[in-house]
Amino acid sequence: MGLFSQAAFYTTVNHIRDLPLHGGKEVAFVGRSNAGKSSAINTLANHVRLAYTSKTPGRTQHLNYFSLGNNNFLVDLPGYGYAKVPPESKRHWEALLSEYLQTRDELCGLVVIMDSRHPLTELDENMLDWFAPTGKPVHILLTKADKLSRQQATLTLSRVKSHLAEHFPHCTVQLFSSLKKLGLEEAEAVIAGWLTR
Ligand code: GDP
Repeated sequence: MGLFSQAAFYTTVNHIRDLPLHGGKEVAFVGRSNAGKSSAINTLANHVRLAYTSKTPGRTQHLNYFSLGNNNFLVDLPGYGYAKVPPESKRHWEALLSEYLQTRDELCGLVVIMDSRHPLTELDENMLDWFAPTGKPVHILLTKADKLSRQQATLTLSRVKSHLAEHFPHCTVQLFSSLKKLGLEEAEAVIAGWLTR
């Protein structure tokens, strides 16, 4: 049975003090808003509306927890780069996100979603820089790969790989498509490896 096949909504957190004391392990998903994070989570979980693909700013400020069974959890982190968020809310989620990423012991790896047509934006690089000191692994999903030709996809993957090898050696990367259900097994294998380590 797939790693995500039992995925079910668990809780929503808006303050560090409310993080659940489950004693298990977590993998977190993060990305620029609109990169395809909700779709990737829904696709991996084979669940149409597990993570709502809505653009409602209110929802995007929170940490949404999904239980995977066996005391493992997937954490859907607030998307970054959403232009319409008021400065006060932006500061709140930046503090929440940075504290969570830098201090959460239960977190065993970070999945970063990037649109394969525009990978490694400045905000993406900032996120990788920020998380690097934890020494924890990062896996990048270059999603919407169905929007690229096979040749463009191969070229993008190799360019991103060589950039990572130079600047972020703890990061791995793959192509992914929620629409075409491409790359699911590869992503699952990486995440399962983190959770069972
Ligand atoms: P989020 O803001 O990162 O959660 O992004 P969403 O998952 O809501 O996706 C943003 C938009 O990209 C939506 O219109 C999706 O239908 C579309 N999208 C997401 N993943 C894919 C994909 O793999 N292929 C294609 N063609 N479109 C996608």
